[in-house]
Amino acid sequence: MLEEKYLLMLPGPTPVPPPVALAQAMPMMNHRGEAFTALFREITAGLQRVFRTRQPVLVLPGSGTGGFETALQNFVAPGEKVLAVVTGAFGDRWAKGARALGYEVERLDVEWGRAADPGELRERLAAGRDRPIRAVLLTHNETSTGVTNPIRELAQVAREHGALVMVDSVSGLGALPIEMDEWGLDVVLTGAQKALMCPPGLTLLAASPRAWEASDRNPGPRFYFDLRPYRDGYEKASLPYTPALALLYALRESLRLIEREGLEAAWARHRLLGRMTRAGVRAMGLELLVRDDRFASDSVTAVKAPPGLSPSAIRRTARERFGVILAGGQGPLSETVFRIGHLGYVVPGDVVQALAAVEGALALHGLPVELGRAAAAAEAVWLDALREQAPAPART
Ligand SMILES: *Cc1c(COP(=O)(O)O)cnc(C)c1O
Repeated sequence: MLEEKYLLMLPGPTPVPPPVALAQAMPMMNHRGEAFTALFREITAGLQRVFRTRQPVLVLPGSGTGGFETALQNFVAPGEKVLAVVTGAFGDRWAKGARALGYEVERLDVEWGRAADPGELRERLAAGRDRPIRAVLLTHNETSTGVTNPIRELAQVAREHGALVMVDSVSGLGALPIEMDEWGLDVVLTGAQKALMCPPGLTLLAASPRAWEASDRNPGPRFYFDLRPYRDGYEKASLPYTPALALLYALRESLRLIEREGLEAAWARHRLLGRMTRAGVRAMGLELLVRDDRFASDSVTAVKAPPGLSPSAIRRTARERFGVILAGGQGPLSETVFRIGHLGYVVPGDVVQALAAVEGALALHGLPVELGRAAAAAEAVWLDALREQAPAPART
């Protein structure tokens, strides 16, 4: 087998398009010079369009988790209370991080595989605890379960209560619709290595005027990840410290690709990838973790392994025999599900290939599968979408 040719179907890191990868090799520049100003302005304008915000979008070194910590330390004062809405492993990580940083953390735990319910959030916030909840921590797309939470409705409830709305959109932003300003989101953060198609290493974060006011009042200690110098230098493209230039070159290139496709076209492509994946999985007789399609993620799908076959065996066979890299289950799901990532630099044909690998793996493990069913179901969804986009081509 040609080992270097494989298909990466992870929910992060995701495949990096060649122009994005190559851009990193450009010569370094003076980050206090004019060329940097042009680079910075192009990136921040592109990010504001992807975040759907007029607020500054800050680019920091780190991964998504670094964004959690930075958001908390800047926008919530030490010891204050936050409510973490936990729908899976990433929500759980954010809650644990907040606790580790000394915040008082209340949790609203939702069964893994289900979406958070705005009514339940309203009840919890109204329960009138002794201390005010300063922020509600939300996960837009829970990557561990493949659930997309109804962020717009959850955010509205949190705002009615006067809490800051902080959203982890690490596996959402760029792939799934999100409207930071219109939906009243106070903090939105993501990482570069998911739908933004870059190598890992950047955290991207934007905050509302309300959040910045909270930051200015916050007496908590911060230094390298104090966001105020980033905000204050934003208009002049002046950063407090040396930026990760090679990654910024990559990000500029990926934002150009998003611009060329069109953000809404990218959302539609992900919707198609999600629908194709779910159709294919069902056609081969496997069960999806998320039962309610209204909340099924269009960037990652969690699939239950069939009885008698472990998800790790399916993944190993898919990788070693079919050259397709799938993700495992996280935490309590590690023995029951595997995940297919379909976000970023992914096209419908990749989904067909991934489904064929899963189906082939089941067959190699001796399960009774009818070869081609998954691909046929996915292709039918694909063809419907193509027919909707344009009339059928002529016969000749
Ligand atoms: C990937 C991811 C993160 C961040 O993980 P890092 O490994 O720190 O980049 C956070 N939240 C969600 C929902 C994610 O998918």
